[in-house]
Amino acid sequence: MPVTTKKQFKRGELLIREGEPGLCAYIIENGNVEIVVQREGQPLQIGTRGPGSLIGEMAMIDDKPRTATVRALEDCDVLEITREDFARRVESADPVVKMVMRVITNRYRDMIGRTNSFVSVTPTSHAAATTAENSNDIHDIAMSTIKIQNELKVALDQKQLMLYYQPIIDVQNMKIAGFEALMRWKHPEKGMISPGVFIPVAEESGLILELSRFALSQTCQTVAKLTAAANPALTGSHPIFVGVNFSVKDFADGDIASFIRTTLDKTGVNPAQIHLEITESLLMEAPEAAKEALEKCRNYGIDISIDDFGTGYSSLSYLHFFPIDTLKIDQSFIRAMTTHPASLVLVKSIIGLARGLNMKIIAEGVETASEARIVRELGVEWVQGFFFSKPLPVDDATKFLQEWQAPNF
Ligand code: C2E
Ligand code: CA
Ligand code: CA
Repeated sequence: MPVTTKKQFKRGELLIREGEPGLCAYIIENGNVEIVVQREGQPLQIGTRGPGSLIGEMAMIDDKPRTATVRALEDCDVLEITREDFARRVESADPVVKMVMRVITNRYRDMIGRTNSFVSVTPTSHAAATTAENSNDIHDIAMSTIKIQNELKVALDQKQLMLYYQPIIDVQNMKIAGFEALMRWKHPEKGMISPGVFIPVAEESGLILELSRFALSQTCQTVAKLTAAANPALTGSHPIFVGVNFSVKDFADGDIASFIRTTLDKTGVNPAQIHLEITESLLMEAPEAAKEALEKCRNYGIDISIDDFGTGYSSLSYLHFFPIDTLKIDQSFIRAMTTHPASLVLVKSIIGLARGLNMKIIAEGVETASEARIVRELGVEWVQGFFFSKPLPVDDATKFLQEWQAPNF
């Protein structure tokens, strides 16, 4: 998986050589560099760059030879963005982002063109040095995203990523039905980082494919452990299931269905014990590819769950288009249900819809006894939320399966 890599250049070393193909760009993390062009056979310094600057991007974008040489004025740390990585990021960007990028790139090219002609007639000008520096904010955002991406890759290699398991309770018979696997990042300096922060970054960089594979492999191992530990008095006769979150990128890239199948076959996990969770808005991004892969997974025996149901897409016709077993009612409806009659109507409608389509329901984000009571009275079978338990490390999830005491509500 190509992602940005860190590189070091010693003082005096060339980062970029005039005339060579532009295979990558660099973001300077530490140190300063000089930009030098050949004018009438003599080297001419046209500017310097310091931490936070992006260099070499135009030749990389245009696939043209380098128009200047860049030399380290002191020892430098840089992040390298390869052309393939860049092309992949552009390819996976939202169409509006792509369009804006194209326009900005063209304007930038014009500006560079004008600046270069200016420099060639007034060699002492520092005009070129200002071209990239007006967009410091963009640099800051790009820098921090790229930093998280690099740290995330290290995190995966160094086992800083792990899964917590949040119990899902069958409130009709008060048994433990299963869990949802939720990823956690224990950063050595920053502590626990929320998936709300790092999952979007992983999706942007393509690292999500490795994260999803990691989540599934870990979950399969855990399912075996949890199944063995389960106390039948607390779980009932059905084997417990674990929901695993997937991203649309998993469906757009490669054969996710056969990866899932191979992983389950290898670990001997019963496919019915795995629920594949995907959000409706993500499904709509690549409907055909998703449909095919989901059908394969479903034929194999995996349960397909629609996550955050009700928040992503306005048309309901997709419910027929995709093979769906379970709807997870988004926590925003549950939260509003007790105070806003309209939200309660929506929750009832979703339940009616699911019943009519022969789908099961999970109510998410149930935090209070009164929310738990309402959904139970509405006939929802599965409930997930802090009222029953927060997501737990695997050992605590195992204890939960053996020692849970059902609350009264
Ligand atoms: P999600 O799939 O909707 O997961 C449910 C989120 O709601 C979890 O947040 C969970 O901790 C939280 N939650 C559960 N019960 C309650 C409650 O009663 N009240 C409140 N306020 N929150 C509750 P978390 O773990 O921070 O995960 C956030 C999101 O990150 C997930 O939302 C999911 O979209 C994504 N995510 C987490 N793990 C993975 C993963 O392994 N792969 C992928 N692709 N996405 C993941
Ligand atoms: Ca989920
Ligand atoms: Ca959800």
